[in-house]
Amino acid sequence: MKGLVHISFAKIDFECPYCGLKYEDNEDKYLDRCNKNKSGYTKIKCKCGNRFGFVYDITGQALGFMLNPSKEEQDKANYFKSLLKSNQL
Ligand SMILES: [Zn+2]
Repeated sequence: MKGLVHISFAKIDFECPYCGLKYEDNEDKYLDRCNKNKSGYTKIKCKCGNRFGFVYDITGQALGFMLNPSKEEQDKANYFKSLLKSNQL
């Protein structure tokens, strides 16, 4: 939900930057993966078929970001997004 304010130290919810599918890092699963990775971020394979980068920024906000998507990947994501919107999943 846009405009919602989270009052906590760390924001653990994030979404796929391609399709907007919601995720929650409530068991620090992705945080652990970030910490183990030298680059400080990890990659997540979304149900829409795309891989996206995931990182906690310096203020403790969970953040999903695109990894140089191809045209094909964006089309796939847009299709998935439309399914999400119409609740067909
Ligand atoms: Zn996705």
